[in-house]
Amino acid sequence: MNFAKLRGFYVSKLQKNKKILYMIAGCSILMVLFMFFSLYNRNIYAISVDGKVIGNAKNEKVIEKLKQELLDDYRDKMGCEIAFYQNIQVEPVKALGQKVDTEQQLREKFRKILSVKIKAVCINIDEKQAAIVSDKEIAERVLQDVKDHYVEKTPGDLIKIDIAEKVTLAEKYVNPLSILNEEDAKNLILQGSLEMTTYKVQQGDTLWDIAHKQDMSVEELIQANPQLKSVDKLALGEIVNLKTIKPLLNVVVTKKVVYSENIPYKTETVKDKSIVKGNQKIKQTGQNGERQVTAEVTYKNGAKIEQNRIDEKIVKEPVNKIVACGTKVQLASRGSGRFLWPSSGRVTSPFGRRGRGMHTGIDIANSKGTAIYAANSGTVSFVGRKGGYGNLVIINHGGGFSTYYAHCNSTLVKSGQSVSRGQKIATVGTTGRTTGPHLHFEVRVNGQPKNPISYLGK
Ligand SMILES: [Zn+2]
Repeated sequence: MNFAKLRGFYVSKLQKNKKILYMIAGCSILMVLFMFFSLYNRNIYAISVDGKVIGNAKNEKVIEKLKQELLDDYRDKMGCEIAFYQNIQVEPVKALGQKVDTEQQLREKFRKILSVKIKAVCINIDEKQAAIVSDKEIAERVLQDVKDHYVEKTPGDLIKIDIAEKVTLAEKYVNPLSILNEEDAKNLILQGSLEMTTYKVQQGDTLWDIAHKQDMSVEELIQANPQLKSVDKLALGEIVNLKTIKPLLNVVVTKKVVYSENIPYKTETVKDKSIVKGNQKIKQTGQNGERQVTAEVTYKNGAKIEQNRIDEKIVKEPVNKIVACGTKVQLASRGSGRFLWPSSGRVTSPFGRRGRGMHTGIDIANSKGTAIYAANSGTVSFVGRKGGYGNLVIINHGGGFSTYYAHCNSTLVKSGQSVSRGQKIATVGTTGRTTGPHLHFEVRVNGQPKNPISYLGK
């Protein structure tokens, strides 16, 4: 065998094998590359909550499954329709360079991040959300409670009830924490706020004290408490609001109210010849009557705003008071007529000598309380107690003339006051030295007592 030939044979065989090896190696690399690409260049799903990526899922099915699982869980707990509070978005992304969360990892993330909102009913007042309750039935009950509150608060039989605002109910998914119970929703609508801050009046408190303690003005406090009857009288233990009540609804209630009313009696005067002129006697006492009034009363949020009488019926007629006025003229006098008779009654003691003394006036007897009139116009120069005169009024008439009115029960004028002729100035009494009720009347000229009869009318 030719050695060179043999060598050539082996070399060519070896070269052939090398080629196959190269081909095998090339194919392997391609396969690895393909596997690598198919593994990492496939799509996975990025999950974002309210715009922030929280993780990746290998497919959308896992995400849906986990969301449903969580919703079912909450629904079982809350027993109502729910939705996720957050906005969840799923977007396919290239897996290259991304970490894929396992189902368990995603479940934990979901439970930690996601919260639910629940289907509830909003009570909207004039298109503005006022209160949220869990369902329509409760919402309707709350509105009825509000109406009932004002109906019960006011007297009478209901004619009609109107709500000034437009009230609508709307379903909405909300944060479970924003849902109110029936009582709270009612109070919110009635008072304008959930919490009523109140204060219990302590011994000796005035509105000013309370306002000062609460850092409010007295005006604010009064505004918050229209129920207070008197600003300066607070009852111990009374509850005072520290916040103004601003109802969210204006409820106008119209009612038929029946109430009784006094009919005041009238006074009738009749002339009576048996009674001395100037004297009066009550012949019949007056008695108030009573009428039953039916009225249509309109209340706004419990406060009366209008009242119209629709019917009235007299239950009891009033009884007139009859006063008899005396016309009997006193004949005990004759004189110049300069002065009026200051009172009515019998002259029991004339002017002049009396025993060892001097009676400086005339005594006109009548019952205690009988009116005493100024005998003429003038100026009161004295009112007060003076020895045996008792309560005394002196009127200066000018020109040296003055008149005295003594033993008065009460005096009705003040010193320095001008009085007119016939003006009531005092009443008959027993003050000073007297044996019975009478007027001791004096006329003095330049201080000297004169016989009054000479100056009185006939
Ligand atoms: Zn006298």
